[in-house]
Parts: sequence; structure tokens; C-alpha cells
Amino acid sequence: MWVDTHCHLDAAEFAGVEDTIAVGAAQSEVSMIVIPAVARDNFVTVAELARKHANCSYALGIHPIYVPQAQESDLALLRETVAAAMNDPRFVALGEIGLDFFVPMLTTPEMREKQEFFYAEQLKIARDFDLPVLLHVRRSQDSILKYLRRIKVVGGIAHAFNGSFQQAETFISLNFKLGFGGAMTFTRALQIRRMAATLPIEAIVLETDAPDISPAWLHPERNSPEQLPRIGQVLAELRELPLDVVARQTTANALAVMPRLGGFI
Ligand SMILES: [Zn+2]
Repeated sequence: MWVDTHCHLDAAEFAGVEDTIAVGAAQSEVSMIVIPAVARDNFVTVAELARKHANCSYALGIHPIYVPQAQESDLALLRETVAAAMNDPRFVALGEIGLDFFVPMLTTPEMREKQEFFYAEQLKIARDFDLPVLLHVRRSQDSILKYLRRIKVVGGIAHAFNGSFQQAETFISLNFKLGFGGAMTFTRALQIRRMAATLPIEAIVLETDAPDISPAWLHPERNSPEQLPRIGQVLAELRELPLDVVARQTTANALAVMPRLGGFI
């Protein structure tokens, strides 16, 4: 079995076909999908989607790309929603949160500051509820790590990891796993493939980030969670490991970092 640790099943690209996608993933042995929220508007949507499908779970958070329109009151709503969700076995993490210093509109001094404020406040919520965090890290590795050293969360996942070996080691020392997906399937992605091949296997989790980051064989078509085993096959080849070993180990890693996932598997 496989775990897709990051899939935006509530994205507009999947409107009307969410059921087909979730069932198709289950038939491809993707027994667990984590659906992160991105803004207050979809807290209810991701929770309802997760409860509707046997292989879906969810996270709650405000994504950096949605920080410009977010208000401070959204953080209070997030805290309340998280408190209520602690009784929901489908709720597994705080996310998607983080910092994006790539998108130009997010890099003005005011917007950097607002992003850092929302990121830090959400880390505090994760800390207070002992929840792992799902991190969006884009041109922001050092700032992301700076806050993780200050605000001690239990751990989490650096999703779509694309940093250096040294940054990977720092994440690992803070009890984080590194998310690998479609980007690793492109032969020209030398650095990502080198890291997927050589980082400790215990530190790696798999993800699709569907509908985004399509693997090489689909690109530029829409990605979907049923692609996960084939992405896992690429990891198996890069590491020269049998496929079942990669499936078992990456599943164990996902469960180790998101223990609430074990509540209903
Ligand atoms: Zn995402």
C-alpha cells in the first residue's frame, strides 16, 4: 500500500470527479491520501471530502499564497476548527503552511512580514496541539528553518523538497520528513534525484501534489493520486530497492510523522 502525503483533491481541476479520483487511487493501492487545506474557505470542504472517502484524511491551515487575502481573525478560526477536529480521526496535521519568496507579489516587504506572521502563528497552533506541520517551502528554506528552531513543533513534512543536503539534514534533525513526487521523475532533475537516491530512506515520504507537479510520463496533463505507485517505482529504481520495500518504508515514514493517520488505516 501507498500513502499520498499531499494531494489537493478539493482543487477546481477535480470538481465533480473527486469520487472517481479517490476510488481510482484506492484501486491503485493508494490506501491513504492527505488533503491539505489552503484557506479558511476550504476548511469545511477538505474535512467533508476526507470523511466521504475511505482512503482520505485532511489537514487544516492557511497556505502562503492565500496569505494576502487572509485576516488575523482567520487564525482564531483555524485554532477553533483545529480544537474541534482533534476528535475527528480523519484530521491528521496542520497545513499547508509555510513561506513563498518566489511568487513576486508575495515578496514585497509588507507581504514577507505578513507571511512570516501567519507562518509563525500557525506553528504555535501546531505546537499547542502537538500536530505535525505540512510545509510549503519555496525560496525560503532558511527563514522556514529559523522559525522551526524558535517554535518547537513535533515535526512534519517539507513538501516538494528542493533544498540542499545541508538543509535536508537540518529538517531531519528537527524530526521532519522530506516529500518527493513528480519532480523526481524527470531525468534532468539531477539534484532532486541525487537526494532521493542518497538521503536516509527513513526521511522520505511520497506525494503527488495533484493536480500539480505531474510526473514526466503525464506532463503537462493533470496529475492524480493514482500516479503514486509509479512515482514510488522511480524512487525504487533510483535507490536500487525492491518496490515493496519502498512502499512499506515510505508508508511507515508517513505514519511515523503523522501518527493520527494510524487511527483509521
Ligand atoms: Zn500543496
